[in-house]
Amino acid sequence: EQAVLQLKNLQTTFQSGRREIPAVDGVSLHINKGEVVGIVGESGCGKSVTSLSIMRLIPSPPGKINSGEIVFKGEDLTKASPKRMKQVRGKEISMIFQEPMTSLNPLFTIGNQLVEAIRNHNKVSKKEAEKKAIDLVKLVGIPRAEELIHNYPHQLSGGMRQRIMIAMAMSCDPEVLIADEPTTALDVTIQAQILDLMKSLNQSKGTAILLITHDLGVVADICNRVIVMYAGQIVEEGTVRMILKDPKHPYTQGLIRSLPKLTEREQELYSIPGTVPQPGSIEVGCRFAERCEYAFDACFTENPPLFELEESRACRCLLYREEEESVS
Ligand code: SF4
Ligand code: MG
Repeated sequence: EQAVLQLKNLQTTFQSGRREIPAVDGVSLHINKGEVVGIVGESGCGKSVTSLSIMRLIPSPPGKINSGEIVFKGEDLTKASPKRMKQVRGKEISMIFQEPMTSLNPLFTIGNQLVEAIRNHNKVSKKEAEKKAIDLVKLVGIPRAEELIHNYPHQLSGGMRQRIMIAMAMSCDPEVLIADEPTTALDVTIQAQILDLMKSLNQSKGTAILLITHDLGVVADICNRVIVMYAGQIVEEGTVRMILKDPKHPYTQGLIRSLPKLTEREQELYSIPGTVPQPGSIEVGCRFAERCEYAFDACFTENPPLFELEESRACRCLLYREEEESVS
């Protein structure tokens, strides 16, 4: 297996007064060709800043990629020129967001927008682009594509609009699709359909997907591996099965406890007490300590490293210190 995208010790900071506040603080991860990887955490954990960093879309100032590498097929994107990044965003890495209405132009038909997207990165005639637009609409599972392309965005449901955004993102045959909370604004049934669509595109086209979500239930459906982020750092990673069946980090355990269970409809939903700390507010100790029911003295004075527990399994928690030492 070969990594198509790799982050090496990425740090993205935001200037606040004289301080550089790290929103993403030393994140290393990889996505293999054709793999689906989930990044999970509450809002404010650094998930979206991570994905915007990959696309080099961090508003600067106040933001900047401070250190680390973003290696896409051997090329470090942190060093790429604006011109090269435009190429990467149009052709090689695509991104979709939570609310498709903000990315679609209300003044143009769906067909017009697809044709424009296609012609932006392919040298094809208008006729050919129109044909490809219809193929793309079919690809994302919309029936009667020939009619649909004459509609304006507001004439479509939220689910349909998200399908169109996926069609646009796929129009350049990207190698990586980054999806930031792609189903959060949709109701549960439509959510499942969009996830199915993403899974089938992954399988038929081999597109690697980085799925960013606050909802562990969403990653269960389509991801191979899961990365859990907290306060700008990776706190746990493993296969979907490992994470869901045997979460190691107290934060991951809390996320799983707060998933709604169909069998306990009557019970009040659990939520992890407290909130994610402001970036940069904790200088020493585990960043989860204030909210952790297992916290002990060392948690407030030592910074837990990411312990490798077994192959493709890691956890940033002092409870696992012994375990690592006995393994290695
Ligand atoms: Fe909890 Fe301590 Fe582990 Fe942090 S290091 S998650 S505070 S037990
Ligand atoms: Mg976000």
